[in-house]
Amino acid sequence: MLIHLLLFDMSLSRFNALQTLENRIEPLPAVFAEGAAENIASYFGENVFNDEAMKKHLTENAYLSVKAAVQSGQKLTIEVADEVAKGMKKWSEEKGCTHFAHWFQPLTGKTAEKHDSFFTLTHDGRVIEEFTGSALVQQEPDGSSFPSGGMRSTFEARGYTVWDPSSPAFIMEVGDGKTLCIPTIFVTYGGEAQDFKLPLLRSQAFLDKAAVPVCQMFDKEVNKVGATLGWEQEYFVVDDALFSARPDLVMNGRTLLGRPAAKHQQLEDHYFGSIPERVYAFMRDLETESHKLGIPVRTRHNEVAPAQYEVAPIFEEINVAVDHNQLLMDLMDRVARRHKLRVLLHEKPFAGINGSGKHNNWSMGTNTGVNLLSPGRKVNLRFLTFFVNTIAAVHKYADILRASIAHAGNDHRLGANEAPPAIISVFIGEAMTKLLDQIVKGKTSDSQEVKRALDLIAKLPNLELDNTDRNRTSPFAFTGNKFEIRAVGSSQNCAGPMTVMNTMMGLQLVEFKAEVDKLVAKGEKQEVAILTVLKGYIRRSKAILFEGNNYSDEWKEEAAKRGLNNFANTPEALDVLSKKLAQDFYGKSGVMNKVELEAFHAVQLHAYCTKLSIEAKSLEEIVHSMVMPAVVRYQTELAANIGAMKEIGMEDAAGYQKDTLKRVIRDMTDVREGLEKLHKALEKAHAADSVRDEADILCHKVRPQMDKIREAVDNLETFVDDQYWPLVKYRELLFVR
Ligand code: ADP
Ligand code: MG
Repeated sequence: MLIHLLLFDMSLSRFNALQTLENRIEPLPAVFAEGAAENIASYFGENVFNDEAMKKHLTENAYLSVKAAVQSGQKLTIEVADEVAKGMKKWSEEKGCTHFAHWFQPLTGKTAEKHDSFFTLTHDGRVIEEFTGSALVQQEPDGSSFPSGGMRSTFEARGYTVWDPSSPAFIMEVGDGKTLCIPTIFVTYGGEAQDFKLPLLRSQAFLDKAAVPVCQMFDKEVNKVGATLGWEQEYFVVDDALFSARPDLVMNGRTLLGRPAAKHQQLEDHYFGSIPERVYAFMRDLETESHKLGIPVRTRHNEVAPAQYEVAPIFEEINVAVDHNQLLMDLMDRVARRHKLRVLLHEKPFAGINGSGKHNNWSMGTNTGVNLLSPGRKVNLRFLTFFVNTIAAVHKYADILRASIAHAGNDHRLGANEAPPAIISVFIGEAMTKLLDQIVKGKTSDSQEVKRALDLIAKLPNLELDNTDRNRTSPFAFTGNKFEIRAVGSSQNCAGPMTVMNTMMGLQLVEFKAEVDKLVAKGEKQEVAILTVLKGYIRRSKAILFEGNNYSDEWKEEAAKRGLNNFANTPEALDVLSKKLAQDFYGKSGVMNKVELEAFHAVQLHAYCTKLSIEAKSLEEIVHSMVMPAVVRYQTELAANIGAMKEIGMEDAAGYQKDTLKRVIRDMTDVREGLEKLHKALEKAHAADSVRDEADILCHKVRPQMDKIREAVDNLETFVDDQYWPLVKYRELLFVR
């Protein structure tokens, strides 16, 4: 009896958590009772200092100056900044703000904010509320603990946040507190980028500069080209109490142990199924909060795995879209807690079922309102130009794109037979494949042929409507009027891969324009020159096009034959950043200088090592302090039972107990050996000569040991008395609602 009490005590947290879940009878937040979310237009963007708010609260001069700054990067004078600050303050105070914060995106991938009160003291000791232009434009948060990859030495440890007027200020509501948030870039004293936003802004400017001359070959009215992004965010939802009873989830965002439930996603009955009520309430609440912040979320549905969902907005200008995704990830966490739920943004929270990605739908648009990747009703040479150049760019810079999505979480996903593989290839669909083939086959390069090619394109079925033949296994797919980059991890800042897309496209278009100009200078007609250059690109980038099953082993072999790289893990994928390809890529475009690139690489590698080390250590701790004590007790009970059976002469009837005991002992031995090896590997990793070596040991020695330990523990989970098992089980996490 005493033993039993002790045992019960051991697993209290799991059963407490389950009991808590059982007792959830709280009413839904009032917002639903009122049946809100009916008329989104009445509150959409109410917490954003958008065009309407600016018009109302700024002088005409200030309003026009901000507009000019956004449209053509024109610098704002401090006088104008003062006026803008005044207007922003008034607007936000009317809405109840007491504080302001520079909101930025350090290389951690998350967002950061430092709050300051409007309140200040004058030199004669009076209390005033103030927000000056200089406070709006620049702040100096104590950024010394954000990763800088060595860019900030200790004597110059300060980082600066600088206002980005192209993304509107907004009000963040946390409980009763309201803060005016100002989107900013984060730089060193010398102006080097230490965040995701500055490289993104630079890449946009670079793409604009490269794409406008190409557009002008077709339409002189075009004077601005901007990238667009529509992301699709996948995530898991679990109960807050169950989450809290899993230290691995709390510490790492993913389960390090846990046997897949007998029923997981085999039936695929979750996909587009009806949404559980509690989750539905969370989603509606999240949507309301998002809409108030001007985030145009529109789509919600169940995903393939149990407890997995997706949210997607209408696409926007890329910088704002990135900010909105960052903001949404933050909101998700806060809103979920209100509903006693937790959102998991990790790429692979659970073994054995699908992980989460974040599809990035990317395209380019002009000031004349044209989507450059849309064939539209009348398909034309301009569409073909941008379409083929995208393919050529991905072919050249696939490794850099791969590096931009490399991080510890995504390693569990890429190439794990459910997500796109680590091999970058492009899917364009049957119709476009045929078209490109036919264009390449054309023998002569004259106007006749251009006409023939255009006729071919014009005869295509309406591509925008007909994007049904989608290949879900491709990491990079043309979906009718945009490319969809599917290998991005669910927790990642979209700015990383989007910066790479803009930059590769910019570099490619510069080259394209130069080649066309050369032919034209030789007397070739422009149309013919364009088609000739495009034909060359189609031929040379053929290797990147793949229409088959990207999950198959045959593709791995085929890709290797084609010379496409398959970087299976983060350290390897990041290596390209120290090579000439990346230095030229970022250097020539001006998106990152050498110092910034080195720092970026160092930060990513370091983050990988830190994450894996934390995972390994938390695994050690959980196994030692939670799992093994439970197993030992069960072992004692089995042994006691076998002894007791023997005493009464019934040993023969103790076969099951004996078998189980043997299995338990075998798995315990595996766990013990695994822990020993893991510990040694960790020590070796931490004693490595370089971070790159450390990453290698963590990747090839530590991670496999973690998997071995997990296998043994997951076996034990099937045998050990359920009443003793201390960790909330998958079936509880994923199916109890
Ligand atoms: P799914 O891939 O799930 O079928 P949709 O086709 O509805 O989803 O669209 C996915 C995303 O692509 C949406 O966020 C949508 O706004 C976005 N999108 C549509 N057109 C563009 C575009 N021109 N540029 C960027 N994103 C776009
Ligand atoms: Mg999609």
